[in-house]
Amino acid sequence: MAIDQSEYIELKNCPLCGSSEKHLLFKAHDLLMGQPGEFGVEQCLQCDFRFTNPRPPAESIFDYYTKNYHCYRDDGICTNKTIESSTSEKTVSNECLKYSFYGGFWGSRGWVIPNLSKGATVLELGCGSGGFVRECVSRGWNTIGTDLNRDLQSNIFNMGAKFIETNLPSINLPDNHLDAVFAWQVLEHLYQPIETLEEIKRVLKPQGIFAFSVPNSDCWQFHLFKNKWAGLQVPTHVSHFSEKSIRQVVEKSGLNIVEIYGQNTIGCLYPSILFWSGKTSVTLSQQWTPINFINKLVDRFLSIFVSLIFGKNQAERLTVICVKEENQI
Ligand SMILES: [Zn+2]
Repeated sequence: MAIDQSEYIELKNCPLCGSSEKHLLFKAHDLLMGQPGEFGVEQCLQCDFRFTNPRPPAESIFDYYTKNYHCYRDDGICTNKTIESSTSEKTVSNECLKYSFYGGFWGSRGWVIPNLSKGATVLELGCGSGGFVRECVSRGWNTIGTDLNRDLQSNIFNMGAKFIETNLPSINLPDNHLDAVFAWQVLEHLYQPIETLEEIKRVLKPQGIFAFSVPNSDCWQFHLFKNKWAGLQVPTHVSHFSEKSIRQVVEKSGLNIVEIYGQNTIGCLYPSILFWSGKTSVTLSQQWTPINFINKLVDRFLSIFVSLIFGKNQAERLTVICVKEENQI
C-alpha cells in the first residue's frame, strides 16, 4: 500500500552538493505501476543534479514495487536469457582490463562482462529475478546476488548463486573481497548512492571492477516527454542522473571511472508514448508478442538515427565502468 502524501520527505538541500538553491522541473506520478501520489522532480541550481522531491521515506519505498514490477517477473526484461551477439558487441581494451560489452549501442540492455577468470567472486546489487546472476554463474564465477525483494532468493539459489540480505548502504561482506560488483539500473533507486559506492569500494579487491548503468536524464526523451518519460519512474527512482552527476557521485566515493558509454537505446520510447496518450501501469516486457516484435524493430531502426543525431550525451542510458585503484583502501 502506498503511504499518505503527508508522510513524504521533503529535502531542503541538494543531496549531492548540499546547495539550497533548486527549482521544480515538474510534478510527476507513478505511471509505471500506477500507485497513487504526486512527486516533484527538482534540479539543483548549483550542480544541475535532478532528484525526486518530495519522496516517500526510505522505509516505505518497497511498498511502491508491485508484483508486476518488470525486474521481479520471470518473463521480465531483466531475465532475458539470450545474449545479444556479434553485431552489437563491442570489445573495449585498455592497459589492464578487457571487457565484452553486450547489448551494444542499440541493444536493449548494456551488460559489461569483464574478463575475469573462473572462480572469481562477484556481486550483483539489485539482482531482480536473476538474469545477470545466471550469466555470471555460467562463467564459473562465485556469484552473490542481493535485492530489496527477499522473496527472490530461492530463484537465485536455484541458479547456483548465493543471496545475501543487505540494508544498503551497508554490504555485509568483508573488506577487499570481490573481483567485481555490478548494478544494472539500480543507483537511481538508492537513497544513499554516495555511501553505497563507498561501501562498494570497501568490498572490492584492489583493481576490482564496478560496472553499472543508469537512465540518463539528459536524454532527448526526458526533455521531450518530461513527466511522461518512461525512464523517470517516480517514486522508485529518487535520483535522475546525467553524465555530469554520475561523475560527481563516483568522484565523491573515491572510485575511478574508466569509461562511460552512452547507449542510444530507445526502449523507453514506446511506453513513453503510451504514458503520454494517457495509459498507465504499462507492462515492460520483451516477450515475443507481435507488439513487442514491432517495437523492437522500430527500436533498432530508429536507434541508429538517434545515435547519429544526438550522440553520447543525449543517450537514453549511461553504462559506466569504474575501478578501485591499487592504493585505495
Ligand atoms: Zn547540487
